[in-house]
Amino acid sequence: MNYRSAISSDGHNQIFAQKRVLLLRMVRGARSVTRSEIGKSLGIDKSSITEIVKPLIKAGILREGMADHPSNGRPSRALSFADGQDHFLGLNLGVRRSQVGVMTLNGDITEEVDFQTPSDADAALRMAREEILHLYEKHRGRRFRALGVSVPGTTDPARRELTYAPNLGWKNVKIADGLQIDPAIPVVVENDSTAAAMYEARVRIRQSEDGRTPNFVLVRSGTGIGAGLVIGGEVFRGGAEMGMAGEFGHMTIVAGGKPCVCANRGCWEKYASAASAASLYLGDRPPARGESVPRFVEIVSKAENGDVRSRRTLEKIGDYLGIGVANVIMTVGIPRIIISGRLVYGWKFIKDPMNDAIGRSIIGRTKGWSVEAGEPIGSALGGALEVAAEEFLSTL
Ligand SMILES: [Zn+2]
Repeated sequence: MNYRSAISSDGHNQIFAQKRVLLLRMVRGARSVTRSEIGKSLGIDKSSITEIVKPLIKAGILREGMADHPSNGRPSRALSFADGQDHFLGLNLGVRRSQVGVMTLNGDITEEVDFQTPSDADAALRMAREEILHLYEKHRGRRFRALGVSVPGTTDPARRELTYAPNLGWKNVKIADGLQIDPAIPVVVENDSTAAAMYEARVRIRQSEDGRTPNFVLVRSGTGIGAGLVIGGEVFRGGAEMGMAGEFGHMTIVAGGKPCVCANRGCWEKYASAASAASLYLGDRPPARGESVPRFVEIVSKAENGDVRSRRTLEKIGDYLGIGVANVIMTVGIPRIIISGRLVYGWKFIKDPMNDAIGRSIIGRTKGWSVEAGEPIGSALGGALEVAAEEFLSTL
């Protein structure tokens, strides 16, 4: 084989592998899907679908049988996963609290354990390993395919290490090495906003009529703010040399504003993260003696009970959120935004002032932009488990 044909054959293999993952993702997302639906959504011809599907059926991964199809109610031959016995482990490493859990291939989370994150990286890793081992031992008979870990920071290109988590103060933590409990269970480490974006992408395949994932930017607001981009059904990670895609939380929105962990001032996450609510609520002064610093969910519940100061706090956050969201839409050029993270608990108070702020920007004068709330679980354990499932699909 000469050089040129080697390249084109590699190119073909790469495209083929991409289409196979898209197809598997669609089967998993929809739970059962016909060949003609796959052809229409993914733009693949019949013979290519056969080329992809045949070996997967032969290997016992997919099966094709009669199923009542939701789109027309008539029974038709539909593809689904053959036995659904594959399971996944997940760890969401949060700044304050962490969760480990188990998910089926269908996306049902069957177990979740929550614990406080130790502030020391080694101690946190030891505790997480213990919790994961406990779940693994408890379900020994299950076929665990991968362990997904979501972290509040950047990862190395191989997705094995956490390179920097500003809100934890951790640098270069060998997460995958520390959590390898079985050589047959690969460990994949992913940024938490990207993991949440993967989760929302799968949810949206199930909701969409054509089985396609829309392009969207996920903005995750919790202790900090991060973003995940989904374009053409794939998450976008940015240049490997930077590993900084989605660090929108540190764009400056107030000149000379509040100091941030990144050493800059006036970063978006100091004004529109769930954690920023406490400071806004206290009027940007330290708590007085005997005064407690309210948690975000406490502020939301006070607002629900008619407390004006809490409601104003959430409205102010909505205003800042909208300013940043308009900037994100202008920068990335994707008009669909999904808000994820703890912030969504206060959505009903945040939504209108956020829309007003976007309305004041140049984006507000265009058509077709939308901002919606994601599912809270997606920004936590759900995202980590989704990383594991995606890893499994990519190896089939
Ligand atoms: Zn910053």
